[in-house]
Amino acid sequence: MLPSKHIENVDHLIENAKITLDYCIRNFGKYPFKSINFTEISSFTKGFAATAYPSAIFMPEDMVFHANIHADKEQDVINELAGHELSHLWWGNSQIDPDDREGSVMLTETVAMYTEMMLYKKMHGKEKMMDRIKMHQQIYDNEKGLSENQPIYRVSGDNPHIAYSKGAVAMVKLSELLGEEKVNMALKNFLLNNQYPKKPTSLDLLKEFYKVSPNDSTKKEIDRLFKMI
Ligand SMILES: [Zn+2]
Repeated sequence: MLPSKHIENVDHLIENAKITLDYCIRNFGKYPFKSINFTEISSFTKGFAATAYPSAIFMPEDMVFHANIHADKEQDVINELAGHELSHLWWGNSQIDPDDREGSVMLTETVAMYTEMMLYKKMHGKEKMMDRIKMHQQIYDNEKGLSENQPIYRVSGDNPHIAYSKGAVAMVKLSELLGEEKVNMALKNFLLNNQYPKKPTSLDLLKEFYKVSPNDSTKKEIDRLFKMI
């Protein structure tokens, strides 16, 4: 239950969850659970961002239920959190169980970032989404010199600026290269072909991107986005 003073953003959250569910069901396949639970946790729990467990999403209260969405429409935190976190119920670690090795975060965070960006585009238009992509490019550029650089398909969990930010940039470029529909088809096939108990790797996802590519030069471009630094 939500304390009544936090009710202000609940309508926005529910509306957002509906848009996310609609997009993911239509493009990636059915929602695997009977319900969704958004659980508010105290903002005193420091160091906690948001986490999706099967059919429950935990979010710190100051990030969502208390966020002043009218003060800054440019930064729609509910989209960032609800859209992104809810999409994890399709991706790792929910409907797929990525092999725990280099590149596994591409199958969790990079695809969740892609979903977040496509939802952002749907709700706020392409131009606004591209502003967010510019911001992610900036985050990546600022951080990349500070640790070992890795291509996305071999990214480790210690490098969120690669898995999230560079990942978001690369996935949006991929959607321009192939078209959003083909990227979504590849993601849907990836889910279908890698059901539990399979342990997919980032190479299994790249394989699905290649399958929807029209020609070799497109495949090379995909390699440039995900396999090169
Ligand atoms: Zn995530």
